Amino acid sequence: MTNAYKIIDHTYDVIVVGAGGAGLRATLGMAAQGLSTACVTKVFPTRSHTVAAQGGMSASLGNMGEDHWTWHMYDTIKGSDWLGDQDAIEYMCREAVPAVVELEHFGVPFSRTEEGKIYQRPFGGMTTKFGEGPAAQRTCAAADRTGHAILHTLYQQSLKHGAEFYIEHFATDLIMDDGVCRGVVSIDLATGELHRFRAHQVVLATGGCGRTFFSATSAHTCTGDGNAMALRAGLPLQDMEFVQFHPTGIYGAGVLITEGVRGEGGYLTNSEGERFMERYAPNAKDLASRDVVSRSMTMEINAGRGVGPDSDHIFLNLQHLGSEVIEKRLPGISESARIFADVDVTKNPIPVIPTVHYNMGGIPTNYHGEVVTLKDGDPDSVVPGLMAIGEAACVSVHGANRLGSNSLLDIVVFGRAAAIRAAELVKPGTPHKPLKDNAMDPILGHLDGIRFNKGDTGTADIRDNMQRTMQKHAAVFRTGDSLAEGIDKMRVIVDSFDDVKVDDKNMIWNTDLIETLELENLLMQAQTIIHGAHNRPESRGAQARDDYPDRNDEEWMKHTLAWTDERANVTIDYRPVHMYTLSDECEVVPPKPRVY
Ligand code: FAD
Repeated sequence: MTNAYKIIDHTYDVIVVGAGGAGLRATLGMAAQGLSTACVTKVFPTRSHTVAAQGGMSASLGNMGEDHWTWHMYDTIKGSDWLGDQDAIEYMCREAVPAVVELEHFGVPFSRTEEGKIYQRPFGGMTTKFGEGPAAQRTCAAADRTGHAILHTLYQQSLKHGAEFYIEHFATDLIMDDGVCRGVVSIDLATGELHRFRAHQVVLATGGCGRTFFSATSAHTCTGDGNAMALRAGLPLQDMEFVQFHPTGIYGAGVLITEGVRGEGGYLTNSEGERFMERYAPNAKDLASRDVVSRSMTMEINAGRGVGPDSDHIFLNLQHLGSEVIEKRLPGISESARIFADVDVTKNPIPVIPTVHYNMGGIPTNYHGEVVTLKDGDPDSVVPGLMAIGEAACVSVHGANRLGSNSLLDIVVFGRAAAIRAAELVKPGTPHKPLKDNAMDPILGHLDGIRFNKGDTGTADIRDNMQRTMQKHAAVFRTGDSLAEGIDKMRVIVDSFDDVKVDDKNMIWNTDLIETLELENLLMQAQTIIHGAHNRPESRGAQARDDYPDRNDEEWMKHTLAWTDERANVTIDYRPVHMYTLSDECEVVPPKPRVY
């Protein structure tokens, strides 16, 4: 079967898989440092999901009031519900300020204050003076199209520095050799040809896996392919049970309404017209962190105070802001609300519901972007030749819950960190070791297995079953019984993949085949999410267990590591949270109750 493939070889110093904000920041940094760099991406770079990011990117510039990076660090640790690695959080919050200034110099058109400084808005969970002061205005914004502005700028900069792009190439697998990553294989979607990329460092920047669930703000392309490639290479994923539900997805459409709306003064109401967040988070109210707001909304709906004919959603009000503010600060929101909810936001509230939005979990890395694994019991041992950044990675700066506007920061800071590390590790032009004769066998075997499958069940049917099961059994509130039921259902769904029907009439990697590869990837990750959630009997950040409502630091302040085998059976182990800092300019923040 495998002789049907034509394989085209390439050699580079480094290969970046993914051209979202993380991948492009790494690509341009590597190319700028003289490494021969290629970026492989399944969608055109500026169509990557980062383009959808609306609200902004956090950094303690202090343009709109007093601020300090150690306050940002405190908020991020508290937001993470003490599951974030404190060394990595320190690195991110300290590097945030130069990272934004650098983006400004690259050409990102940030919104401006009257004095011409970068405009910053409040976002959930962002405070001053270690939580004791007023809300911080820390989120740097380019209106409500910040991701769009950053992505276009980074793509232009990457081209300027001579990086090469392989566009509409679907990466399928890592080339591994005795635990070392030596390259990656992709399919050229236009021709069906296989490309084999040799590199001294492969950087996975393939984004999150929001599409494991039925209702998600993320694009249909968010299938976590890099995460699944790591699993197939025998590596674990970390903290996958922590899936963020954004409080304000448009009801019925899943499209995001940015937290920036509440940052600009928007608020939530129930069927009684009550601003209920005042009861759940008396200080931060509508700007409490996302897990808190999503849970509060769900509790209101469950108590029969939801809005609409089925009392199953909540209203987001911004009519009182006035059309001038809305037009200037939130133009994209008005458009989304009009198109997806038929609402004129200057007159009526937007119907919203908590919707899957972000994966805190991913491929475990250190703060240089190097992938780590639990080899010989060492929780920080590095996988040579492999890096991961962005939503695909779990550094872990977001722990159990990400604060809004910390992801655009994460992708830029750690994209840059990976470029710096790669330049330390790789001497430009270093020759590549020949691959073993059988190095491609597992990869071609994997592709053949999908391509020549002759089943009867449609890819879309299996995907739909998975998404509905995850939405029902692993959503905002979880219980041991419901998760166990979900695990049983997922076993049947995973097994049904043996019977998947793939249309290979033209022997070309058509949409059906690619969607089937993506589905396989999603199934593996869904398994790590639901098993990780079932195995963790506590409530922390986005993991809200009705049967274990409290956080249990004594036993569970640790990261989950999950491996899958070829049948997507899951094995779980744990590694400690980093409770140390890199410098003496800040202190470890010990765990305490998380109230807003
Ligand atoms: P992505 O931007 O998702 O890019 C992934 C890349 O990987 C793409 O180029 C894709 O082509 C490529 N890829 C994937 N699989 C393959 C494969 N098999 N082969 C080849 N290439 C592949 N965060 C904030 O901080 N502030 C915000 O205001 C904000 N707003 C958001 C709004 C929305 C609607 C959503 C859903 C998220 C928002 N976020 C925000 C989160 C943030 O946008 C994302 O977490 C972040 O952009 C992810 O960037 P990334 O580079 O890791 O991945």
